[in-house]
Amino acid sequence: MATERTLSIIKPDATRRNLTGAINAMIEGAGLRIIAQKRTKWSKADAEAFYAVHRERPFFNDLVAFMTSGPIVIQVLEADNAVQRYRDVMGATNPANAAVGTIRKVHAESIEANSVHGSDSVENAKKEIDLCFKPAEIVG
Ligand code: ATP
Ligand code: MG
Repeated sequence: MATERTLSIIKPDATRRNLTGAINAMIEGAGLRIIAQKRTKWSKADAEAFYAVHRERPFFNDLVAFMTSGPIVIQVLEADNAVQRYRDVMGATNPANAAVGTIRKVHAESIEANSVHGSDSVENAKKEIDLCFKPAEIVG
């Protein structure tokens, strides 16, 4: 299986509850290596650019407001099959549907305030990583 990279974001609901370390422990426990990490706060323009694919969705404005409501921690994760592996660790978008033991089942507050983002394909992972990090900030 090929070594891949995926983009992770620990969302404002999780940083507000001081869960960065607890979530990182679940990430590392699943065999994903955190090879870049920064805590930041997005502007409206940052969030709109990142979630541009969702611009037409009814929840877009709420999502942008939520993602700019507090600090976030943006990460690059590396492992064999990292994209799918992290999606499995995250659990379903709606925590009510997430499998037992997943980050969203354990920590998410709602379908919107669902604690983490993870890229949904290798192609989107590359785009998201390029948008969020300079090459020198990623140390594998
Ligand atoms: P993410 O892209 O954050 O990893 P995802 O791929 O599981 O999540 P998407 O469909 O890409 O889900 O939705 C992006 C984000 O938009 C979700 O994580 C959630 O925060 C928010 N969202 C999705 N669906 C809804 C909804 N029906 N109502 C409110 N917010 C939603
Ligand atoms: Mg998504």
